[in-house]
Amino acid sequence: MSGKITFTMIKPDAVAKGHTGKIIDHVIQKGYKLVAMKYTRLSEEKAGEFYAIHRERPFFKDLIAFMTSGPIVAAVLEKENAVADYRNVIGATDPAKAEVGTIRNLYAKSIDANAVHGSDSDENAAIEAAFFFNGFERF
Ligand code: GDP
Repeated sequence: MSGKITFTMIKPDAVAKGHTGKIIDHVIQKGYKLVAMKYTRLSEEKAGEFYAIHRERPFFKDLIAFMTSGPIVAAVLEKENAVADYRNVIGATDPAKAEVGTIRNLYAKSIDANAVHGSDSDENAAIEAAFFFNGFERF
């Protein structure tokens, strides 16, 4: 059984299109409790730090340009088996390959503008949650 929290972002494309409320409701309906949430915008420096693991990838510049293009919603979600189950809730990175009914299937249009982020391990969930929230911002 993996850990109890995961970290998510509603990316600029989904926020701009007005999908924020529907995505938050979808996540709650899947059994997640919101333990922290913030509406904010990433600077280039912060986005680069968050996606540092992708720095050498050919799409890194596009990724940073996209992630800084508008406001995002960052949240920490709690549930048993949070990380693995949430990957199933959001679907494949490429929305064309995402299963029907997943968040990316419903709300994403392309592999870069893919509506949401979800942590890929318990370790990264803890790092990413701490990147956006301090201990006093979690309830
Ligand atoms: P995730 O864990 O499903 O978000 O996928 P990754 O960690 O592999 O990639 C991080 C993010 O980089 C993805 O969510 C996309 O927004 C973006 N990305 C991944 N692959 C590509 C690509 O081939 N082209 C572009 N432009 N962006 C990509």
